[in-house]
Amino acid sequence: MVTCPKCGKSVPAWKLTLLTNFSAITCPTCSAKLRANKRINSLIGGIGGGVGGGLGGLLVTLWFHTKEVVYRMFIIALFPLIFLAAWLASIKFMKLEALE
Ligand SMILES: [Zn+2]
Repeated sequence: MVTCPKCGKSVPAWKLTLLTNFSAITCPTCSAKLRANKRINSLIGGIGGGVGGGLGGLLVTLWFHTKEVVYRMFIIALFPLIFLAAWLASIKFMKLEALE
């Protein structure tokens, strides 16, 4: 659960989906302008990118060596999954900061 740092009330999850490193949202309870803690978002992005890149590279290597179609299917399926997992994780672990 993500809460507002000013009033302590929870912020609806759908609002967080609108939140990026370059935008702010407004708390529905106290109207504070909130933005994501960039450090945590970058950390999650880095982990997601690293895991996705590593697994993707491994699968491409396997595919290249075996010519198995199944690995191509994995590669196609993998990227949306990694993207979705990173996105969900960034919402789950997001810390909000109030803007002045
Ligand atoms: Zn608030």
